[in-house]
Amino acid sequence: MSTQVQFLNGLNTIGGNVVSFTQGNTRLVMDFGVNFAPAETPTGDLLADGTLPALPDLFTDVDSDMATTIFVSHLHLDHMGALKYLTKPTDVYMSQASADLYQVLTELGTESAPNATIKVIPFETPMMFGDFEVTFFETDHDARGAAAIRVRDGVHTFVHSGDVRLDGPHPERVNHWADILREAHIDLFLLEGTEFSFDADDETEHVRHTEMSVQQDFGQILDEHHQLVVINPYERNIDRLEALQNTARLHGREILWDKQFATIMRAMGVADVKEIDWEAVVADPNHYVVQNHFNQLHDLDQFDGQFVYLHMNGEPLGEYDPRFAELQAYLDANHVELQRLGASGHAKPEDLVSLAQHVNAQKTVTWHSFKPEKEAEALRKVGLNVYLPTKGETLVY
Ligand SMILES: [Zn+2]
Repeated sequence: MSTQVQFLNGLNTIGGNVVSFTQGNTRLVMDFGVNFAPAETPTGDLLADGTLPALPDLFTDVDSDMATTIFVSHLHLDHMGALKYLTKPTDVYMSQASADLYQVLTELGTESAPNATIKVIPFETPMMFGDFEVTFFETDHDARGAAAIRVRDGVHTFVHSGDVRLDGPHPERVNHWADILREAHIDLFLLEGTEFSFDADDETEHVRHTEMSVQQDFGQILDEHHQLVVINPYERNIDRLEALQNTARLHGREILWDKQFATIMRAMGVADVKEIDWEAVVADPNHYVVQNHFNQLHDLDQFDGQFVYLHMNGEPLGEYDPRFAELQAYLDANHVELQRLGASGHAKPEDLVSLAQHVNAQKTVTWHSFKPEKEAEALRKVGLNVYLPTKGETLVY
């Protein structure tokens, strides 16, 4: 029986990339994100305008004889944000760490997908779904539990890279799965291309930071300043939160977290997490680092501009979010500089080229990028066979 590989979404956007593998009435869908969907927009409109993948039976009461299983490579919104729109109970497989994080986010009310039946697939443990075999490989991205996903139909091998980087703390994980894929002479490799999205000008302007350099710079800033340091990290980057807490302690400070962050960190096994105690902070500000979410920005009023503000990939992430201007205005009014101290979860362009070259698939598809054609060009230059599908296109194997 042939396998149909259909590209449902996210071909020239960062995230929201969805592909399905179908054989008979077995359908595997991965990932399951949305890029941007205002909360008030009805599901039918999101389906009609293509924000949601064109899988109407999953989002309406239309019946279907397809047996669908969803796979989530990691727990960022652009890879799982569509789960909440599911209208029928559907199995959703993810790694153990992703499932743990999903559970605490659900308890906190941050995530709510009543029809998503979360199931765990351990790394490097093939599982059968109809005639498909699916295997998750642990990878390196700025989300704990992130995976690359291999699908085999008995004859062909297809791989969804998920989001990946090679200058993170665990390049050996990526090299490991890349070695396995190289040996397997895979048919189709779907490769993210986030860092190909930006113009050369932007690239030369910004120095590449890594998780390791973030910690070094953070330690240095703590040493240089004798006032309160405020950080704005992302609550789903557990490994970074844990590292920040350790770095702060090495430099004689304690990080105090808000209730939400503290709950998530404890649920994910981070030890000795301390919550905000403003009285203690006011009494001895240079002994502390306080994590601040945009929603609680005005907690900082009491410091009258006497603090350092480190933006560490928390919300609002950038200028495209209208809240960013608000944050900037607040800091300006307080004469505090917004210092960016973050790192990308995505591989540098040259690392993506090396990765694709190493895997050496029969066919590589570039997506999860504003400029997949730029990535395609770079890969073709090194002799790879690259294909740029259009939205909705199906390849038959
Ligand atoms: Zn992504």
